[in-house]
Amino acid sequence: MKFNTKVIHGNQHHDPATGAVMTPVYQTSTFVQTSPGKPVNEFEYSRASNPTRSALENALASIENGGRGLAFSSGLAATDCVLRGLKAGDEVIASDDLYGGTFRLFSRIYKDSGIVFHFLDLNEIAAVQQLINDNTKLIWLETPTNPLMKITDIEAVAKLANARKILFAVDNTFATPYLQKPLDLGADIVMHSATKYLGGHSDVIAGALVVKDATLGEQLHFQQFATGATLGPMDSYLVLRGIKTLHLRVQRHSENGRKVADYLTQHPAVANVYYPGLKTHPNHEIAAKQMSDFGGMVSFTFKSAQKADAISFLEKLKVFTLAESLGGVESLANHPALMTHASIPEEKRKAIGITDDLVRLSVGVEDIDDLLADLEQAFQ
Ligand SMILES: *Cc1c(COP(=O)(O)O)cnc(C)c1O
Repeated sequence: MKFNTKVIHGNQHHDPATGAVMTPVYQTSTFVQTSPGKPVNEFEYSRASNPTRSALENALASIENGGRGLAFSSGLAATDCVLRGLKAGDEVIASDDLYGGTFRLFSRIYKDSGIVFHFLDLNEIAAVQQLINDNTKLIWLETPTNPLMKITDIEAVAKLANARKILFAVDNTFATPYLQKPLDLGADIVMHSATKYLGGHSDVIAGALVVKDATLGEQLHFQQFATGATLGPMDSYLVLRGIKTLHLRVQRHSENGRKVADYLTQHPAVANVYYPGLKTHPNHEIAAKQMSDFGGMVSFTFKSAQKADAISFLEKLKVFTLAESLGGVESLANHPALMTHASIPEEKRKAIGITDDLVRLSVGVEDIDDLLADLEQAFQ
């Protein structure tokens, strides 16, 4: 089955109880048993499994070419589930340009439990190789990164991780499986903030893990079941519904993203444009190799390098909404240093390039003419 069919039919079945074409919202905590320990079918209690969540989890596994999907109450809950498998003394190697909340979870919560984190540019394969030792248990990669759109070669990191049997997880939130399939490139785990493109309508907080290996899937499910950060039936329904148009949306996000990046590149007020589809992007070759297109996320800085310019630009936007988050049908604009990435210490932000004049755009699926006109009037 091709991807555009999978998003609608992959691992999906009409509701066995009623024949409903779309999976119903099974808003129930528990399920009847005919005799103690004998439920009517596989379902007993919704923290363990729920038919609406199962339908979503099956769809997730299908679109990422995985064996098992798990749906969580947020993207960070999904990441947390992977980290819970580690113990004091274990070491993690992670991208140095991570989603702010992921960095906070690693550096403020898990560091205190004795897990050692190394943050670096994972394209520096020799440096990664040097860090690997017998305690290295997990490599955590985000590509493209947020907000600087750095690209890392998934296949190259997978080779290192697989050779040393180190668990290798990729946060695929920005690319989505429409553009990039980490499991096919050698990753063990794909993580999503389904809040973003998978849900796609800015109406739900949700997370996901997809794995190839059945034993790993079982371990992660046990962890999830035992700690409880599962996705509710209504939210599962919303993400499942979102996935059915993922291919249409991300295609348009990518078309619009490219046009916005081109527009910004030639704008006299703009200094740097961060978009992996641009030939001038330092990792464009890797992006072109592992992604089928380049998505709708674009960041840029001002020639003036003034924070005040970025702020006043953001205040003047009318079609773009100034808000955190990304990946919804509507275009959003964000100031990473003051909003999404405020939890990263200032000197670390500066060191990785999240300057005070950096603006991040989540280009939506509106008419491109209206989006470009909005950017132009804000620059004026
Ligand atoms: C939003 C986001 C997360 C966290 O997901 P939540 O659903 O907000 O918990 C993780 N990684 C990336 C890349 C994100 O954009």
